Amino acid sequence: MPSSPPTQVAIIGAGLSGLSFALALHKIGIPSTIWEVRSNNFVQGGAIMLSPNALRILDAIGVYKRIRDKGFHFETLTFKNEHDETTDVYYFGHEQLYGYKAFRVYRQILIDELKLMLHERGIQVKYDTKFTHVIAETPENVEFAFADGSVSTASLLIGADGIHSTLRKAIYPTVKPQYLGFVGMTSAIQTSRLHFPQSEPHYPLPVAIAAGPGAFVIAPQDVDGSEVLIGTQSALREQDRAGWSNLQADKDEVVRLFSRNKTSWPDLVQSAIENIDKDTINTWPYYAVPRLEKWASPSGKIIILGDAAHAVPPTTGQGVNQAFEDVWMLALLLRELGEGVELEEALGFWQRWRQERVDGILDLTRAMNNKRLPLAEQQRLPKGAVWSGGVEDTEQMGWLYGPRLEDVVAEWVRGQRK
Ligand SMILES: Cc1cc2nc3c(=O)[nH]c(=O)nc-3n(C[C@H](O)[C@H](O)[C@H](O)COP(=O)(O)OP(=O)(O)OC[C@H]3O[C@@H](n4cnc5c(N)ncnc54)[C@H](O)[C@@H]3O)c2cc1C
Repeated sequence: MPSSPPTQVAIIGAGLSGLSFALALHKIGIPSTIWEVRSNNFVQGGAIMLSPNALRILDAIGVYKRIRDKGFHFETLTFKNEHDETTDVYYFGHEQLYGYKAFRVYRQILIDELKLMLHERGIQVKYDTKFTHVIAETPENVEFAFADGSVSTASLLIGADGIHSTLRKAIYPTVKPQYLGFVGMTSAIQTSRLHFPQSEPHYPLPVAIAAGPGAFVIAPQDVDGSEVLIGTQSALREQDRAGWSNLQADKDEVVRLFSRNKTSWPDLVQSAIENIDKDTINTWPYYAVPRLEKWASPSGKIIILGDAAHAVPPTTGQGVNQAFEDVWMLALLLRELGEGVELEEALGFWQRWRQERVDGILDLTRAMNNKRLPLAEQQRLPKGAVWSGGVEDTEQMGWLYGPRLEDVVAEWVRGQRK
C-alpha cells in the first residue's frame, strides 16, 4: 500500500523532543497526542545551551521569538588553563555566519513555552500516564498500553521517552544505555560571588578551565548573566537507580566531591566551590545509547527519536540540539509521504542523514575529551585527535550549524519524485 501522511500520531514523553515534535507536526497539519508519566507541575532545573542548528528549527516552528528575550546570548566558549591563560576558543554560535548566536536558557522556560503553545493549538498532553508496552503493530496502526490499564491506537507511535526509553524495548528488547564512568555535578551561584582574576577585567564567560583535577565550567544562565552555573565531573562507580538518587540527595557528599583537590584549581574556581548553593545542586550520571541500526520498527509504525535513539555524551552540549534536528526533519519528511515518497525510504534517509550528524558529534566529543588530557598524553596522540579551534576559526563548525533541513529534505524528495 503506498504511504500517506499519518492521520493521528501518538507521542510518548513530554520532554523537549516530544513537545517540539507535537508542535512541528501541528505546523504541517498532522494531529498528535502526548502521554507523559510525570505530572504537569513537575519542574526540571538547570539551563541548556542551544546552538544555531537548533535555534533555526525553533524559529521555524515559532518558538524562538517567544523565548529569545528570556536567556543569555553568547558566541564563544573560552578554554583556559590553570594559570588563567586562554588555550582555545569554541564557537557555540555566530550571528553573521549562521544567523544566530548561541543561547543559554533555563530548560523549564523552554518547556513551559512549548506547553503553552500546544495548549493554544488544542494539542492534548495526558500527564501522570505511564506507557508500558506495545500490544500489536499492523501495517495500518499500532495498539499500545499504559500502566493504568488503558489502551490506545495511532497510525504512528513515537518514542520521545528519553535515554531510558520504554518504547525502545519494542524494537530492541535488550539494548541498555552504557554508563560512561563519570557523574556531572552542577550548582547555580551569583556571579558577584566569583573572584575573577584582576588582570582580566572583562573575563570571558562561559569558560571551561582545565587544571590538575579535570575541567570546570562556569556559564551564565539568566538574561543579564547575574547567575552562573558551575559544574565539573567526578569519576565514580556505576550505581543502581536508588544509588544515584541517594547521591543527588546527599548534598554534603556532592560538595565534598566538588572540593576534592580544591587548592589545585585557580582562585576563580576555588571561589565558585566556596559559594556552592546546596539547594541548587544537581548530579547527573553520564550515560549514552549505543549506536542503533534502526530508529524504527520494520513496519515503520514505531519510531524513536531524541535521547531514546541516540543520547550522546555531554561534552559538546548537543543532546537536545540533535533531538530538535530529529524532530523537524522527521516532520518535514512525513508531510511529503505519497506521490513517490514511501515511509520506509523516508525513514531510511532520515536515519542515515541524522546518524551521520550524531557520528560527527561523537568524533567531536572524542577530540574535545582528548583536549582535557595532560599535554604529554595529548602529544602522543595522532594528528587531529585533539580538538583545536581558535578565535579566527569561525567556520570550523559550519558542518554542524549550517544546514537548513528544509533544503535537505526538499532535495531528497525531488530525487525520489524524478
Ligand atoms: C544536566 C544536563 C545538562 C544538559 N545540557 C544540555 C545542553 O546544554 N545542550 C544540549 O543540547 N543538551 C543538553 N543536555 C542533554 C538534553 O537534556 C537531552 O538531550 C534532552 O533532554 C533529550 O530530550 P528528550 O525529550 O529526548 O528526553 P527527556 O528530556 O529525557 O524526556 C523524556 C520524557 O519522557 C518521559 N517518559 C519516560 N518514560 C516514559 C513512559 N514510560 N511513559 C510516559 N512518559 C515517559 C519522561 O518523564 C520525560 O518527560 C543536558 C542534559 C543534562 C542532564
